[in-house]
This record gives sequence, C-alpha cells and structure tokens, in this order.
Amino acid sequence: MKIIVTGGAGFIGGNFVHHMVNKYPDYQIINLDLLTYAGNLETLKPVEDKPNYKFIKGDIADRDFVFQLFENEKPDIIVNFAAESHVDRSITDPEAFVRTNVMGTTTLLDACRTYGIKRYHQVSTDEVYGDLPLDRPDLFFTEETPLHTSSPYSSSKASADLFVLAYQRTFGLPVTISRCSNNYGPYHFPEKLIPLIISRALADEELPVYGTGENVRDWLHVSDHCEAIDLIIHKGKEGEVYNVGGHNERTNLEVVKTILEALDKPESLIKYVKDRPGHDRRYAIDPKKLETELGWKPKYNFDTGIRQTIQWYLDNEDWWKHIINGEYQGYFDTMYGNR
Ligand code: NAD
Repeated sequence: MKIIVTGGAGFIGGNFVHHMVNKYPDYQIINLDLLTYAGNLETLKPVEDKPNYKFIKGDIADRDFVFQLFENEKPDIIVNFAAESHVDRSITDPEAFVRTNVMGTTTLLDACRTYGIKRYHQVSTDEVYGDLPLDRPDLFFTEETPLHTSSPYSSSKASADLFVLAYQRTFGLPVTISRCSNNYGPYHFPEKLIPLIISRALADEELPVYGTGENVRDWLHVSDHCEAIDLIIHKGKEGEVYNVGGHNERTNLEVVKTILEALDKPESLIKYVKDRPGHDRRYAIDPKKLETELGWKPKYNFDTGIRQTIQWYLDNEDWWKHIINGEYQGYFDTMYGNR
C-alpha cells in the first residue's frame, strides 16, 4: 500500500506520518509538503531514516507537479492534511486559504480521478458547522448539522468538503471525510493556543486571551485523531463523513489556567485582548457515528493529555525554540540541499 500524506510536515500530519510509518512497516508513506511557515521537517526526525518513509517537497495546488507525482508514484491512498490552518491568518489573507484549501483539494481530486485511487481522505474540521450557543450545553454537532461557517478559514474548509462529496457523487471517487475538534499534543506550532501559552508562560511573558476567555473548544489529543483517520481509511464507508471528538469541552480561560497551574506560574500573566472578529462561541462534537460504526474510542482524557503535552514541551525545548527563532527553516537545506 502506498499512501501520500499531504501536509505531513505540519502538526497533525506529522503525528500521522509517525503513526503510519511505525505501525505499518509494509506500507510506503510519502510525505508531500510545501514547507510553508507551518511546515517543519524537524518534526520528522524520528522517522526520516526509516525505509518506508519518503519526503517530497511540493505544492498541492500546482497541477503539473501533482499530476507528475501521481504518474511517478501511483499512490493507493491520499490523506489530505495540507492546508492553511490558522483562523487569524485567514482574516488578514483569505486568498491563500482559497488557493491551498480549495484549489489544492480540487487539484488532488482531479489527479485521483485521472489516475485512479483506492481512497481519498479529506481531513476536515468541526469549524465547518459554525458555532453553538454557550447556554445550550445539550447541543452537539452531528454529521447532519448544516455547514454554517464563520471565518474565511472554515469557509475554505467547508468548500473543500463540498467538492470532495461532489466528486464522489459525480465521478464515483471513493472518498471519506473526517471532521475533528481542536487537537493538542506534541509538535504543535507555537502560534496556536496551547503551545503559545506554554512557551510564553515558561518565558514569563504576557498571555493573550481573546475577549473574556469564555469561548469553549472541544479538545482531542492528536494521537486519538490519528487513530481515527487510520480506522476511517481502512474501514470507513465510501462517501461518508465522520465526526471526531472526545467530549473534552473547556473554555479558553480554563485551558490557560490549567497550563499556568501545571507550570506553577501566576495568573497575573493573563492579558485579555480585543476579541477576534466573528469569534465562534462553542464547538462540541458528537462522535457517536465513529464510535458505533467503526468502534473508535479516544484513549486520552484532557487532564492527563494536557499534562503529558506540557511535559513534552519541557522535554523538547529545542524543537519549539528553533521555531520561535526561525532556525527550523534552514533544516530543509541542511537535510536535502537547496533545490
Ligand atoms: P498545520 O498548519 O500545522 O500544517 C499544515 C501543513 O500543510 C504544513 O506543514 C504546511 O507546510 C503544509 N502546506 C500548506 N500549504 C500547502 C500546499 N499548498 N501544498 C502542500 N503542503 C502545504 O496544520 P494542522 O493543525 O496540522 O492541521 C492539519 C489539517 O487538519 C488541516 O487540514 C486542518 O484544517 C485540519 N484540522 C486541524 C485541527 C487542529 O486543531 N489543528 C482540527 C481539525 C482539523
């Protein structure tokens, strides 16, 4: 089995590459990544010498490149993680999100229908459902919840999902989609809430919290997300969408306070900043379909998972300090030469 994992130098894609390379020594895992600011080959150090792993630098929205890659590699499965993923950046530069998230996805889909494929899997997000009110804890997103996006990021992800489903209906492409809640864990780029707070708190720097910090996110450990995708590409039904979440809802303020407590840092570091425009209030996933149909169950609860994650950041300071200092961007040249 040959699998192309796009965006495998990013946070979740990188964890997924580790998972697949180690679990399936007989599979060939090709990591295709453009190495934007968010792509970091240092994340792949633990697997880069394994015989079943290969890295290729390239752009999923570059049609000639993608078609040539399919011609050369004849992959069986595509798992598409590659994306512009940061909501704040989508507010300042929406076009980059259309290019990679929408056009990149349709380019991959076109290559899949031209060359044939056993499975195309789209890694999507619960943000395509919009948000839920804070005073209705009984409401959850199901796979039937209408798409109702708030940010340019979530709009680009929802558009991509619709193309994926349309290619199944129109061209009979064997596709699946997973829509996951917020992930946390090792190798998370330090612009996102949890690693941002850990790295800044360790340096005794101010901790920016949007608005009043009351917005609720549903957190899932990245390993549980990787397990879910592994299960869906092997056992999921063609044309189906699967929600992925572990019922770990926390306000942003609770997350920040948990980190401060674990690091023994004062709450006075918290600085409330002007709220993000269009900020979603609450996300909450109902993962029943994945649990009952495919037998998925998350292994981590948030309180253990977050403590292990904090410990990972303490044990791997080099990884995130290289990012903060911009040093990781030279790693590709060191590893692969400047080509
Ligand atoms: P990330 O920003 O850490 O990684 C994205 C990767 O994609 C980077 O390595 C980047 O270099 C690569 N990339 C960007 N544009 C590319 C292009 N044109 N061609 C090839 N590679 C390109 O993102 P992440 O947090 O790991 O998210 C991965 C996927 O999971 C995304 O599709 C995101 O929408 C989805 N998702 C993320 C979360 C979360 O909590 N982070 C939750 C649910 C779904």
